[in-house]
Amino acid sequence: MSKETTPGAIVHYNRGCALAMKGEWDGAISEFRTALLIDPNHAHAHVNLGNALSLSGDMEGAISAYRAALRLAPDDAYAHIGLGATLAKQGNRDEAAAEFRTALRLAPNDVETHNNLGLVLAEQGDWEGAITEFRTVMSLDPDHAVARTNLGKALSKLPKEKGADGNVQDQSALSEKDRAIIQRLGEPEASADPVEKQKDLMRLFGPAHYVVYAHSLCATALYQRILSKGHVIDPEQTEEFAPNEILGHEDIVLDQGVPRRRGITHCDHCGVQFQAGDGKYVSYCVLEPDELRLWQEVKNEDKGKSEQP
Ligand SMILES: [Zn+2]
Repeated sequence: MSKETTPGAIVHYNRGCALAMKGEWDGAISEFRTALLIDPNHAHAHVNLGNALSLSGDMEGAISAYRAALRLAPDDAYAHIGLGATLAKQGNRDEAAAEFRTALRLAPNDVETHNNLGLVLAEQGDWEGAITEFRTVMSLDPDHAVARTNLGKALSKLPKEKGADGNVQDQSALSEKDRAIIQRLGEPEASADPVEKQKDLMRLFGPAHYVVYAHSLCATALYQRILSKGHVIDPEQTEEFAPNEILGHEDIVLDQGVPRRRGITHCDHCGVQFQAGDGKYVSYCVLEPDELRLWQEVKNEDKGKSEQP
């Protein structure tokens, strides 16, 4: 927002926001435009004008408004998000993806932007990129049902795409075992049994899950809360840590397919920051019940295979 916003512009801007909240786009657009006549440097008024125009169907107008905002405030994540969403609506996927990626550099935990980037990548046929985004949404917001559905769809597309052209990007990065699984998924009979297909995908990508950390005093309450939400915990992935194993250490999360380090800073139950004087910590690997059941089947099958002479 401009430092020297005149009072008149603020009044119109606030009226515009109030009308936009009610879905009165025409009135909102007119108020934002009046605010911008008084103060053309009001970046938020440009962003909100863009949102109102985009929602009212004026994509070109919206794009100019977002670009005007970005000339004034290049690091405004909301302007990048709005511009990306409008470009995506127009079918301009490359530019939309670029805007979403810029927004995520500025606001890495914006759940909806990860989901929207995943959708754009899926539309481009980049299933692996899409899967990474949907998994990131699930790790940030395990209850995000839309992302979960999107993840399922993207996972089901993956083998067909791979089988169709027989090519897998960056073959050299794949292990012998992964290559065998991908080859199996590419064979026509692979799609006959959806459960087997899902298991093979799990062998490649692991189950969809997220990891939480808690003070050991908070662990039971967190456990109960996870169960009450209908999620389950993988007992084999439950770990205990001493303070020196957590403090200053980081968790690795995937960000647009690139491993990124995220500090383990606070208890996921009470929200209090971890400190050197704390007792032990517990971490849980949280999944959906179906995911855990299938994951255990996969591990048992693979164990059985490796034990055969
Ligand atoms: Zn706690």
